[in-house]
Amino acid sequence: MSENISVLGLGLMGSALAASLIEAGHRVTVWNRSPAKADPLVARGATRAATPAEAVGASPLVIVCLLDCPSVHEVLKEAPLEGRVIANLTTSRPAEARETAAWVAERGGDYLDGGIMAVPQMIATPGALILYSGSQPAFDRYEQAFTAMAAARYVGTDPGMAPLLDLAMLTGMYGQMAGYLEAAALVRSAKYPLTDFTTELLVPWLNAMAAQQPRWAEAIEAGDHRTEVSNLEVNRAGMENLVRAFQEQGVKLDLLLPMKTVIDRRVARGLAHEGLSGLVEEL
Ligand code: NDP
Repeated sequence: MSENISVLGLGLMGSALAASLIEAGHRVTVWNRSPAKADPLVARGATRAATPAEAVGASPLVIVCLLDCPSVHEVLKEAPLEGRVIANLTTSRPAEARETAAWVAERGGDYLDGGIMAVPQMIATPGALILYSGSQPAFDRYEQAFTAMAAARYVGTDPGMAPLLDLAMLTGMYGQMAGYLEAAALVRSAKYPLTDFTTELLVPWLNAMAAQQPRWAEAIEAGDHRTEVSNLEVNRAGMENLVRAFQEQGVKLDLLLPMKTVIDRRVARGLAHEGLSGLVEEL
């Protein structure tokens, strides 16, 4: 079904989102603070709005993708939100999303917050995902339109849930990157070819380890950290070994040392028999 959709914010991400909606056959109105960024979209069939109020007035579904939460409030403050669905895909913190949802509701609008799990080049390709939370009726009404941009997944009525899960996914990613960078520094210190190490050894190993994580999730949810894999005493000794090996190779272990601190703390509590999943209780 072809919808009337307005997109406010035509930076790298907003432009990619608007282009995917035009491509899917929706009638798209666009607005950006610096008007020239609308030109390529207008050339592809979008309608240009002169002000945020005009853009919001043009469509029942308004997608917002700006720098941050304060810019969203600044842009929407003069706009007629009554009866509109505001899908705010600007990266926000959970508390900001809840505040913005209440602010939109006071103005008579319905609110969805979104967490974009993609870079602009991935929009409208199979790997892209957008998490939504907030108004379920709004999500149900526009789910099909949202799928033009990326796979759409609704994660609950709390508007803060999509940004929280977005942050959790980024956290997992940064942790993996930190591990990778430490591994790369160690491998480089021995002048072993890093590309071979990465593709032939590390990536298959990380994939095998990631496959264990659903078991950790079950252990954490059950609060049962018994293990038949390797207990914290074994991991404490392993970390000790790692620290010494890095020192001997002249490489800093800065990105991973906090994990050693948490293992040591848990062991000092007399919980050396537990598995690594128990570390979550220290956080
Ligand atoms: P850009 O820097 O490319 O675009 C920022 C946009 O915000 C521009 O349209 C800019 O307008 C607008 N803007 C900034 N401040 C104001 C203001 N005070 N009033 C009005 N408009 C303002 O960033 P992206 O498009 O990459 O990112 C947009 C959002 O998408 C961010 O929240 C980002 O975290 C999120 N996101 C981005 C990803 C990415 O890979 N790029 C991935 C996932 C999420 P102007 O053109 O006039 O400067």
